[in-house]
Amino acid sequence: MATLFTKIINREIPADIVYEDDHVVAFRDISPQAPVHILIVPRQEIPGLAFLPDEGDHLHLLNAAKKIAEQFELHSGYRLVINQGEEAGQTVPHLHAHLLGGRILTWPPG
Ligand code: 5GP
Repeated sequence: MATLFTKIINREIPADIVYEDDHVVAFRDISPQAPVHILIVPRQEIPGLAFLPDEGDHLHLLNAAKKIAEQFELHSGYRLVINQGEEAGQTVPHLHAHLLGGRILTWPPG
């Protein structure tokens, strides 16, 4: 069965898509934690960081993040987060990176 994010990628569920290329699709998080909160999702259904294949769409994730950060003019800084597993708060079993920006981001994260 397709993941929630595959359904968004296939336009079966609406989302505010802000970027896409042959490898990834990026859209606004439904529950934003910062003025800019974008989810960057490889088209390939990889359950999470712990299941990463050697090759695939995820290899393009960082380059997409850089382009999206430029698109949103996050010149003062931004953060890229991947939650892996229950204790890290992963809720959707389809690999995705959170791109957060538009406010000061404290460290360490919660
Ligand atoms: P995780 O907790 O797995 O790292 O991140 C999943 C993210 O997906 C959460 O930040 C959550 O707000 C977001 N999310 C969950 N369902 C939807 C949805 O239907 N549409 C969008 N755009 N984001 C969603």
